Amino acid sequence: MRFARLRLNGFKSFVDPTDLVIHPGLTGVVGPNGCGKSNLLEALRWVMGENRPTAMRGGGMEDVIFAGAATRPARNFAEVALVIDNAERLAPAGFNEADQIEIVRRITRDAGSAYKVNTRDVRARDVQMLFADASTGSHSPALVRQGQISELINARPKSRRVILEEAAGISGLYQRRHEAELR
Ligand code: ATP
Ligand code: MG
Repeated sequence: MRFARLRLNGFKSFVDPTDLVIHPGLTGVVGPNGCGKSNLLEALRWVMGENRPTAMRGGGMEDVIFAGAATRPARNFAEVALVIDNAERLAPAGFNEADQIEIVRRITRDAGSAYKVNTRDVRARDVQMLFADASTGSHSPALVRQGQISELINARPKSRRVILEEAAGISGLYQRRHEAELR
């Protein structure tokens, strides 16, 4: 599975529809401060099911919707579409019927998020499961947030452990153990 395209509409600073073609070998995005590089990465995480507003540098999920600028009114919705090249048919069962998988997440003010996979309505959980077994997904250690490296270097040992456990993908196990102990 390979990311092929990312389309944004009303997401953060990307108020106008933007279509980013992700050619094989793309390793970096450059541009002046504040041009939206981090927003692009956040859009990628968001469409894969990220549900923590803090991971989007916001206080609430609706903060991803274009908030308006001096010359432009705010938007009522934000939409991000991720097109995945599935020509090798490596997607998990249930998602593996086409050469391309298009995941769309849309958030509307006061109405929350809705997801579609290849135009079919799905739950957030379904999208998260689509990535659960790939080394990708919104919590992937491959997506390194700005400042995360210096956080790691400057952290106290205890919080450094939390960061490393998250990167290793084992932090979810504590939650599941906690739930199991409550039963
Ligand atoms: P740097 O090089 O400093 O890391 P960057 O290219 O990563 O910059 P981003 O952090 O992606 O830039 O973009 C920041 C811009 O996005 C800011 O101008 C901010 O005002 C704008 N922005 C963020 N959220 C919204 C929103 N909801 N509505 C409108 N603009 C937004
Ligand atoms: Mg940035």
